[in-house]
Amino acid sequence: MEDSIKKEIEQLKRKKDVVILAHYYVDGQVQELADFVGDSYFLAKKATEVTEKNILFCGVSFMGESAKILNPGKRVVMADGTADCPMAHMLDIDRIAEVRREYADAAVVCYVNSTAEIKAYSDVCVTSSNALRVVRALPNRNIFFVPDENLGRYIASQIPEKNFILNDGFCHVHTSIYKEELLHAKELHPDALVLSHPECRENVLEISDFIGSTSEILSFAERSEAKEFIICTEMGVFYELELKNPNKKFYSVGHRQFCPNMKKISLEKVLYAMETLEPVVEIDEKLRIKAAKPLSRMLELAK
Ligand code: SF4
Repeated sequence: MEDSIKKEIEQLKRKKDVVILAHYYVDGQVQELADFVGDSYFLAKKATEVTEKNILFCGVSFMGESAKILNPGKRVVMADGTADCPMAHMLDIDRIAEVRREYADAAVVCYVNSTAEIKAYSDVCVTSSNALRVVRALPNRNIFFVPDENLGRYIASQIPEKNFILNDGFCHVHTSIYKEELLHAKELHPDALVLSHPECRENVLEISDFIGSTSEILSFAERSEAKEFIICTEMGVFYELELKNPNKKFYSVGHRQFCPNMKKISLEKVLYAMETLEPVVEIDEKLRIKAAKPLSRMLELAK
């Protein structure tokens, strides 16, 4: 069954001129048939480079929106139109106006995990891979970092010369990794290095050996001479970690490192989206033009 679905998807890719982009957090079997798999930064960049007429996105809605914002001429289809990231909505645009009134030179730095509307009111977007580079390159001293508080706090700790104003958004998957459970995992695997995503809580990052985006965690594990790792990010990354490092061991911290929205994407849904080229991502053109500026600025500054 699974094999016949994969075969049909492969045939439809060619017939309908579709490229499949998938995030590291979707199921391994979906990653396996994608043309490109990566983190948000890689996928946003890739979406501007692909030549196919149609992009099928296996990820949550802000990723499809970013692809459409950067590629208005392409049809961007979501594998599941209901897969959404709760953190993307954790900011009110009135709060942006309030901070801008309070800090005349504030740059609103928006993590890509945000709605098109929030992006449209921001100065520049960042991903967890390029946030340090992009924020350092900004001339502004005051940085309003939205929507994720933990990532903002981590970036602030690395750039002490700037003043950060943080928003109280969070990722429920990464914040469900607790220090106590991590300490227990360290006891069980005393030789393992702890690799954590900066969306994790501050007290988890404090006892981590490496902090980085999903793709940075992957390349660290590949380069490292260590043989065991405790991974503090979404479980989907284990597919690529184990594929690339068959002789190394990877452990999770608990049973909650699981994004229910990313996991909505199944092979059956990919096939359906491929057959129908629906649901399609639509964005009001005025909003799209406004939201394209901070995204393009990110791609420029992160070069
Ligand atoms: S893992 Fe967290 S940040 Fe990523 S899509 Fe899921 S809820 Fe959003």
